[in-house]
Amino acid sequence: MSDNTRIQQFKQMTEADPDNELGHFSLGKACLEAGRFDEAAASLERVITINPKMSKAFQLLGDAYEKAGARDKAVEVMTRGVTVADEHGDLMPRDAMADALKSWGAPVPAFAPGAAPAGAASDAGSDSGFSCTRCGQPRGQLEKPPFKGPLGGKIHANTCSACWREWLPMGTKVINELGLALASEAGQSTYDQYMLEFLQIEER
Ligand SMILES: [Zn+2]
Repeated sequence: MSDNTRIQQFKQMTEADPDNELGHFSLGKACLEAGRFDEAAASLERVITINPKMSKAFQLLGDAYEKAGARDKAVEVMTRGVTVADEHGDLMPRDAMADALKSWGAPVPAFAPGAAPAGAASDAGSDSGFSCTRCGQPRGQLEKPPFKGPLGGKIHANTCSACWREWLPMGTKVINELGLALASEAGQSTYDQYMLEFLQIEER
């Protein structure tokens, strides 16, 4: 799928459901990847208005501002983002934003470097090494993969059952609003893409 087709599709979703953070997030991310930094920033600003806890959106927004030449705004957004990520237990976005701030010579909000983020610190009972990539909680792993195949295994390894339950109605919306035919390969791959973005699992 070309960048333009994807961006068009995500736009459609934000228009059909303007309060859906996922549509704006996907649109912002696609614009960022396509080098459309101003549009990316506008979409990602919308995401953090709808969901001020989504630390990954702060990270991408800061990135969009930096690439658009607005260093001041990038610093402001990432400074907020580090604290949001730390409170929410999102280790990876937190450290990435802290590194970006450091590389720009900007002050980094205090947190214990290398330590478990605040949101994940209290759970001593978990020794499985599991933590949910979306909410950062080290508990609540799904009992088994939600479906067969490598993608099901990936979700099992990375997603807690609460986040999985949040995704299901969102997935139904995606299907309805985009008119996806899951029997087709293109429909299935679009659906999977939304799912991975919602669950904040990197595609590799
Ligand atoms: Zn979770």
